[in-house]
Amino acid sequence: MTETTETVRGDSGPDLAALVASRVLDVPDFPQPGVLFKDLMPLFADGQVFRDVTDAIIAHHGAGSFDVVAGIEARGFVMAAAIAYATGKGVVPIRKAGKLPREVFAASYALEYGEATLEVHRDAFAAGERVLVVDDVLATGGTAGAALDLVERAGGAIAGFTVLLELGFLGGRERLGHRTVHALLSV
Ligand code: AMP
Repeated sequence: MTETTETVRGDSGPDLAALVASRVLDVPDFPQPGVLFKDLMPLFADGQVFRDVTDAIIAHHGAGSFDVVAGIEARGFVMAAAIAYATGKGVVPIRKAGKLPREVFAASYALEYGEATLEVHRDAFAAGERVLVVDDVLATGGTAGAALDLVERAGGAIAGFTVLLELGFLGGRERLGHRTVHALLSV
């Protein structure tokens, strides 16, 4: 776990950023050499921190600003379900290729490591439904860009996009251009 006394930053202030930082494990060379994997399992496993982080995301956006929560597979599902339950909203999964059983929209993109395709059911959203999109980590922004585009192709309107942790040096926020990124911790 990262124990740090230096000031950490994020879009919900230094205390929330420090809270996330205290529950991240750095795993070198996973899933391949050269990648420093940010493991947020300790955050999910700590009931109080998980609740505090979930509440902070809801407070940032306001529960009235979205109709449904979309989580990006797989760790985004964990956040999406918690936010949705706490606000009485539903969850829509944005899944890796081949997992959804009915007609989908698909988007392919380059990852920090490898390539991937995301899919969402074509009928996932009512027209104009306001969608809060969540994931654990923003790295190069390829995943988020594809997910946000898919939400719009399926008829949703982006109400917000939140990640627990942003790897700022990989330029994801810049790549997302006009999208507004809410990151609890930026490193
Ligand atoms: P990217 O498309 O490069 O922004 O990658 C973001 C997606 O890949 C998210 O769904 C993350 O869960 C995962 N990911 C990418 N890089 C890392 C990393 N260094 N540590 C943990 N997860 C990562």
